[in-house]
Amino acid sequence: MKHRIVVVGAGYAGAFAAGNLARRLSPADTEITVVNAEPDFVERMRLHQLAIGQDLAFRKLADVFAGTGVRLRLARVTGVDPERRTVAVTGPDGDVGDGELAYDTLLYALGSSVAHHDVPGVAEYAFDVTGRSSALRLRERLAGLGEGATVLVVGEGLTGIETATEFAESRPDLSVALAAHGELGAWLSPKARRHLRRAFDRLGITVHEHTRIEAVEPTRAIAADGTRIPAEVTVWAAGFAVHPIAAVSGLEVAETGQIVVDRTMRSVSHPDVYAAGDCAYAIGDNGRPLPMSCGSAGFTNMQATAAIIARLTGSEVPTSALKYYGNHISLGRRDAIFQMVDGDVRSKSWYLGGRTAARLKSGVLKGSGWSIVHPTFGMPKRKRRLATAPDRAGVRAAA
Ligand SMILES: Cc1cc2nc3c(=O)[nH]c(=O)nc-3n(C[C@H](O)[C@H](O)[C@H](O)COP(=O)(O)OP(=O)(O)OC[C@H]3O[C@@H](n4cnc5c(N)ncnc54)[C@H](O)[C@@H]3O)c2cc1C
Repeated sequence: MKHRIVVVGAGYAGAFAAGNLARRLSPADTEITVVNAEPDFVERMRLHQLAIGQDLAFRKLADVFAGTGVRLRLARVTGVDPERRTVAVTGPDGDVGDGELAYDTLLYALGSSVAHHDVPGVAEYAFDVTGRSSALRLRERLAGLGEGATVLVVGEGLTGIETATEFAESRPDLSVALAAHGELGAWLSPKARRHLRRAFDRLGITVHEHTRIEAVEPTRAIAADGTRIPAEVTVWAAGFAVHPIAAVSGLEVAETGQIVVDRTMRSVSHPDVYAAGDCAYAIGDNGRPLPMSCGSAGFTNMQATAAIIARLTGSEVPTSALKYYGNHISLGRRDAIFQMVDGDVRSKSWYLGGRTAARLKSGVLKGSGWSIVHPTFGMPKRKRRLATAPDRAGVRAAA
């Protein structure tokens, strides 16, 4: 019987990992299945662009995996049973069908979605850009707004900044504001912070600093000090949260709900399970948890696939880098900030800004998308047999 590898989630981490595994493991003794809710590879890093009305073409996952040997199952994962080694799924219409997939090795890469933080009114009235369907809902709402309509972005992290600047640049007719817990760009180097403020001024974005939004209503948001901020549209960008599936399934998770993994991205509670991307609680080379980011999705999926392949083929498990270099923040299409951080995650004094940084960011976005839709490019073509394959008894004995 073939070794069944199931990859749940085909975002930046899962899609690349699946292609990589297919390229390097022999189909004679492995069977790789990817389960994803969406039919396309959704470039999450561009969803604020989608929300403001830009036309983006997403590639079909069926085309991405064509010819790789990877089986694609379009379905929603509803549960994982790590004791029975099964994944529960429902089809696109909510049908259960043959609702269970058995695995020998599971790579869990379901990503994240918006974190509501239990703030009243967020679930009912706020919009977000963390998934394609929510970004499309926001797109429709924004398209219907007239001149001078108020849009409030809540959150001064990367997603909040990118969203506010993209919206203000693409729709100068709107009145865009951002609510920040603290000071705008406090975590940036002083020069980069000044650059950010200049960009906000140029784009006419109002900033409400030291403002904690405690409730969202249909046409306004209420701050902790009672200030009422008019907002025909509130965009909630106050962080990402992972799906509770991992925690409910009995896998060991951190407070964040992310799966706790060892240095090789293997679950510390269930050795047949690996995690990569936003849903992995992975400690980086700097001794701190890796942030939820595309960069971390890249490092963790490379480590996870290297470990899976090594363990299955009976070779030594290599360790690959788990780095956090810094942040690359778009400020619309023509400006950006590239801020490096040191080993203690403090911003270095040097930063890159302006058109050069914007061009670099555009290259990063294109490169990440390209590497996913060409999942096997640059990987060794030699397919490796499993150490446990029946005709590989010698290898098994040696291992
Ligand atoms: C607007 C925006 C801008 C961003 N900009 C940047 C940036 O500039 N730089 C950066 O490093 N990071 C950025 N990020 C963060 C980055 O997008 C994420 O960290 C990255 O997508 C994580 O990759 P992942 O593979 O873990 O998850 P995802 O890319 O979210 O992939 C998860 C996959 O799982 C699927 N899925 C989820 N739940 C289920 C389910 N129950 N059943 C089946 N399938 C499911 C989803 O459809 C998706 O295909 C941004 C995020 C947003 C929203």
